[in-house]
Amino acid sequence: MATIFSKIVAGEIPSYKVAEDDKFYAFLDINPLVKGHTLVVPKKEVDYIYDLSDEELAAMHVFAKHVALAIQKAFPCRKVGEAVIGLEVPHAHIHLIPIQNESDMLFSNPKLKLSDEEFKSIAERIHNAWEGKA
Ligand code: AMP
Repeated sequence: MATIFSKIVAGEIPSYKVAEDDKFYAFLDINPLVKGHTLVVPKKEVDYIYDLSDEELAAMHVFAKHVALAIQKAFPCRKVGEAVIGLEVPHAHIHLIPIQNESDMLFSNPKLKLSDEEFKSIAERIHNAWEGKA
């Protein structure tokens, strides 16, 4: 059965997309720790990120790097932190989180509740930066 992230990539369920190429897809985490919290997934369905080949993992990180730079442009921050957990959704993904402090990366923090309009506006800002428009 397809994972929820494969359904997102296929457009079968909605997401706030920020970037895409032929192999990877980036979209906002629906339970963000901070504004701009983004997930990067391979279009190929693999559960554990370290089951990707060396080449796939390297390419995923290069894609994630460019998404991270776009996040930082759209949401000025000290750094964009990266985390891999993957215990909830069995489809490899990298969390990209704009941070001011180490505590912004704590997954035990309460998640932000954002409106549809806020998610759309955040995604658009990052997408524009990713396309070099911002
Ligand atoms: P983990 O597998 O522990 O890395 O966590 C999965 C992440 O995916 C969580 O931060 C969820 O908020 C996020 N998530 C789950 N379903 C969706 C969805 N439909 N759209 C966006 N983010 C999601």
